[in-house]
Amino acid sequence: MNNEKKRLNHRDEDAKHLFELLHNNSDWVWEVDAQGRYTWTSDVVTELLGVPPEEVIGKTPFDFMPPGEAERVAGAFGAIVTEKRAFSGLVNRNQRADGSVVVLETSGIPLFDEQGELRGYRGIDRNISHLGERVLQLETIYQTTPVALCMIDRAGRLVMSNNAMAKLLGDVQETESHFQRLMPDYWPFFISDFALADRGEPLPSRELSFRDRSYDLQAVPVKDAMDTVIGLSVTWVDITERRHAEHKLASANKVLQQFAQHDHLTGLFNRRYMDECLLAEIARSLEDGFPLSVCLADIDYFKNYNDNKGHQAGDDCLRLVARTLAVSHLRSGYNVSRYGGEEFLIILPGTNLAQARDLAEGVRGNISALNVPHNASPTGFLTISIGVATLQAGQVQSEGKPLHMIASGLIHRADTALYAAKKQGRNQVVSALENSVRVSGA
Ligand code: GH3
Ligand code: MG
Ligand code: MG
Repeated sequence: MNNEKKRLNHRDEDAKHLFELLHNNSDWVWEVDAQGRYTWTSDVVTELLGVPPEEVIGKTPFDFMPPGEAERVAGAFGAIVTEKRAFSGLVNRNQRADGSVVVLETSGIPLFDEQGELRGYRGIDRNISHLGERVLQLETIYQTTPVALCMIDRAGRLVMSNNAMAKLLGDVQETESHFQRLMPDYWPFFISDFALADRGEPLPSRELSFRDRSYDLQAVPVKDAMDTVIGLSVTWVDITERRHAEHKLASANKVLQQFAQHDHLTGLFNRRYMDECLLAEIARSLEDGFPLSVCLADIDYFKNYNDNKGHQAGDDCLRLVARTLAVSHLRSGYNVSRYGGEEFLIILPGTNLAQARDLAEGVRGNISALNVPHNASPTGFLTISIGVATLQAGQVQSEGKPLHMIASGLIHRADTALYAAKKQGRNQVVSALENSVRVSGA
């Protein structure tokens, strides 16, 4: 055998070997034209798709996929062809001739003609059914979960995101998004998360707002094979509705509290609130050793007023008296309430009996000065009577009584003084002394 013949024999053997490699292997080798139609296929296709090579030529990969899958893969593949780039790891579901499904992993490189135009792709498909189905399921869960998920690398770039994350970011393109630019106010938090992750410490959850929505954020470190933190995997739970509901509830509570504490006719505090207020003021008074006074005011001959002018006019009169009482108290902390039908209670913390009596006298004068005609009253105009009582903190403390008893004792003394004021002719202030009452005014 001469050398030339030997060389040819070698070539024949190489070709035979190559043929063997291509057609008797686990991977399917193929070529497609610029329209994606198969122009060449190795025999392995029969094993993978269950069809002979001649039935594959002229078809496209999408012809072997179920309709929904073809649409999904076409979306991903469209971008690759537009950029005329190589690709790998494209996982896709295919239907074999017998109806069974095979999951393939496709990789390929672009082929160009002499003018540099894309003339097609060459690549391989590998059967990954055992693992591929799981990958596709996980991918579906990742993409369709309502929770926004993304991965941020150490430079702050968004390297992976699901559909909910894309919706959250709006028109921001994944490739051009950088958290330092996207959320400059929150970027320091991510930097701090990287620092914590590097030290192996747990990352805190955070709340942040982006484009009028609120999110609960939790980052977890993503590590490489060497256990180095290379990124953060971040979940974004939209809590906007929850926050709105909380705000609504808070304002509803405020309104309810307003209702619970106030009298609807006059807008003054109501008796229930005032009873609580009195207990708190007594406790404070005992603690600080300051005197505490109360004034119990009652409109004179009010039944007659109602009988003469009607209930509506009576209500208007109650509102007028309430306003006058409210503006008669110049010091903050002086609370005034509608304590009963036409009775009002004023609590005067840090005020002794003489000061309280002066104040009550001023209030009585203010009501008289309104000059509201009241024919059924001997004076001819609207008047009030006031009973005043004072708590001398030092004395009560030694008695060691419970607060509510001290409170009812104090109110009772004011009431007794008021009764005396009525009895002595009305339109006057009477203050309760320890064992007696002292009259002033009128
Ligand atoms: P005195 O000078 O002794 O206080 O006599 P009075 O008539 O004011 O006292 P009395 O307790 O006999 O009557 C109180 C009246 O107050 C009875 C009721 O008609 C009236 N009244 C109580 N609450 C309201 C209210 O909400 N609106 C109106 N219009 N009247 C009320
Ligand atoms: Mg009255
Ligand atoms: Mg009364």
